[in-house]
Amino acid sequence: MNIYADPAFSMATEQFRVIADYLEIDEKLRARLLLPKRTMAVTLPVQRDDGSISVYHGYRVQHHLAFGPTKGGVRFHPGVTLGEVAALSIWMSWKCALTGLPYGGAKGGVTVDPRTLSARELESLSRRYMQEMIPFVGPRTDIIGPDMGTNEQVMAWFMDTYSVYQGHAVPEIVTGKPVTVGGTAGRREATGRGVVYLVERALDVMKLRPDKCTAVVQGFGNVGGVAALGLAFKSGMKVVGLSDESGAFYREGGIDVAAAETYAKKHGSLAGFTEADPIPSEDLLTLPCDVLVPAALEAVITEKNAGKLRCRILAEGANGPTTPEADRILAERWNEIFVIPDILCNAGGVIVSYFEWVQGLQSFFWNETEVTDRLFRTLEQAFSNMTRRARAAKIPHRMAAMAIGVERVLAAKKARGLFP
Ligand code: GLU
Repeated sequence: MNIYADPAFSMATEQFRVIADYLEIDEKLRARLLLPKRTMAVTLPVQRDDGSISVYHGYRVQHHLAFGPTKGGVRFHPGVTLGEVAALSIWMSWKCALTGLPYGGAKGGVTVDPRTLSARELESLSRRYMQEMIPFVGPRTDIIGPDMGTNEQVMAWFMDTYSVYQGHAVPEIVTGKPVTVGGTAGRREATGRGVVYLVERALDVMKLRPDKCTAVVQGFGNVGGVAALGLAFKSGMKVVGLSDESGAFYREGGIDVAAAETYAKKHGSLAGFTEADPIPSEDLLTLPCDVLVPAALEAVITEKNAGKLRCRILAEGANGPTTPEADRILAERWNEIFVIPDILCNAGGVIVSYFEWVQGLQSFFWNETEVTDRLFRTLEQAFSNMTRRARAAKIPHRMAAMAIGVERVLAAKKARGLFP
């Protein structure tokens, strides 16, 4: 029985198989590299405002422990399954290894639509989740962070709950916290900023000018929203397509992203936004554009639409947006589409989480310029390692990025050896 059986876990497994074959990794080592080291499933009863009790399922998966503690976000989403969380923890491992962070991957999740909860219910669920995780996590064991459906406030509740049980403040148990309780400057914007930095690097390689380019962004949350604003106002691109869970929008002349952001903040979503035309969500990804940023859920680029993408750069802000079947199509289109794979493209978030953890451990804080400068330097190193390897070995970017990550984890596991 595979307790992780799930489409996302199958994707992570297949991606790993491709890399393991490419690196000629011994069959005997493969299960040890791929399968999560530790998994925790919890049941979370929450008293609702009407007096009833709802019970939610929560998970935390720690993928490998070879470098130090594990690290990764917690997702609150109705689609969360144990297998998805496990896949996300595996992707976190390759991401941390590629960018040189001293972490194994982890991920957590609760199967819940947070929008159906009141603020009090969300607090109660968040605190209960952290309380159940206390024996399993710690600043030197497993450090929690934000992911889809969680935010700075949820991180503050996590940090407070953990700290109350320890009897003193332990800010370094959680990253993505508000600055007032030991969070770092620049964490909230980090993932989106990283996406924009890497898009500009790719444009530079392709000798394209950002101010002559168009962009389409799927997802308008902490990643897509910040990326869309950056592409529009920092890089000077025309953002012609946007979407969130409520639907997709197009405007050939360019969408006013700041107006869209103000609208979404006020109304809770883009539903009813009139400054662009609503289009069917499935048409968004195949719009003609220079830069396409999927920044929402997994498996949105499949064998059905990969051949129809009309972008020059695919910047994967989401985790796992491209299926292995779609990847084979993209590999054939390597000279048409420059892929910035997820484990590099969205790494800005965990890189700045690492900075937040380091600052917390030392109780010594950096300003936003220092944080962002170091973020860009870390991304630059990973970007150049990936592109150099891809060019030298004539392999796709995803393969190069994953090969670097998997090799580093394998080397650490080999050096430490197998406990008798
Ligand atoms: N959830 C983010 C990711 O998927 C970052 C998690 C963190 O900061 O620990 O990379």
